[in-house]
Amino acid sequence: MSNRRDFLKNISLATAGGLLAGKAGIANASDAVTAASPVATANKALGLQIYSLQQELYDNLPQRMKELKEMGYVNFELAGYSKGKIGQVDFMEFKKMADDNGIKIVSSHVSPSIEGQQMFAPFSYDDVPKLKEDWKFKTEEHQKLGCKFMIIPMFMPIMSMKTSDEVKQMCDYFNQLGEINKQAGIIFAYHNHNWEFNRVSVPGEQPSRNPFAPTGKQIEDLMIEYTDPALVSFELDVYWTVRGSNDPLEYLKKHANRIKALHIKDTAVLGQSGLLNFENIFNQMYANGVKDFFVELEAMPDGRSQLAGVKDCAAFLQKASFVK
Ligand code: MG
Repeated sequence: MSNRRDFLKNISLATAGGLLAGKAGIANASDAVTAASPVATANKALGLQIYSLQQELYDNLPQRMKELKEMGYVNFELAGYSKGKIGQVDFMEFKKMADDNGIKIVSSHVSPSIEGQQMFAPFSYDDVPKLKEDWKFKTEEHQKLGCKFMIIPMFMPIMSMKTSDEVKQMCDYFNQLGEINKQAGIIFAYHNHNWEFNRVSVPGEQPSRNPFAPTGKQIEDLMIEYTDPALVSFELDVYWTVRGSNDPLEYLKKHANRIKALHIKDTAVLGQSGLLNFENIFNQMYANGVKDFFVELEAMPDGRSQLAGVKDCAAFLQKASFVK
């Protein structure tokens, strides 16, 4: 984790972000953008997970894309894909609008599903043949979008897993989905929250004699071990990694060859909490040869618009000397 010097460095960056944030105390998204000064040095290619904007993205999609491009967001990771659509917009229309604004659709968060079933319907491996058919269709659509990645954002059964055998079974399923993507020239990856760092028992493993030592292995570690590196990659969400009591820097070092993309995320606007050392994270990301990262922002805690928050995140990264 960060030492004191790194912590102070983060504080100084956070102060700059805080000043900038303080200027734009406007709730309406379009007002915030016109009132705040444009990001002067928007010359770095930034990525954005579009979930960050929530409904504000669709209030005026062409205008939002233009504003995002001005902030430096030239790489999109989609959320809200369902057959033929991104949100409520036809997926090819969405792509055309992105193309017209010089924005590339690099990645997409998407889950296999069975027609008519709710997102959180109970999962059964009996349905895998149908889910693979669905995944094939979605893969073909994502080929048309020109996506580099298709990423499963969460897999609910993980939350209740207790044994490594359950992890193995899931990994076998992911390998099959990854095979479909590989045939199409798309990288299949899995995105973590904090519960992937829960521990499960491994047969034959003796508990430690130290009563304070954790027993079992972390699911995320086992997923990396049990999936085929040729078929399955990982997108590391650095914020949720910290919430899962792991250091994203160490994790990036440990699994350099399996983590192919990052979610750059903080409690809210990047760099303000002091919880994450983004300089270390970016340095290690580049050292690993990874270029694809996506800013992610949950609901803004201070009543300002999502767009204002996304803009502050861009300003933080545009200003940071460690972002190339
Ligand atoms: Mg994330």
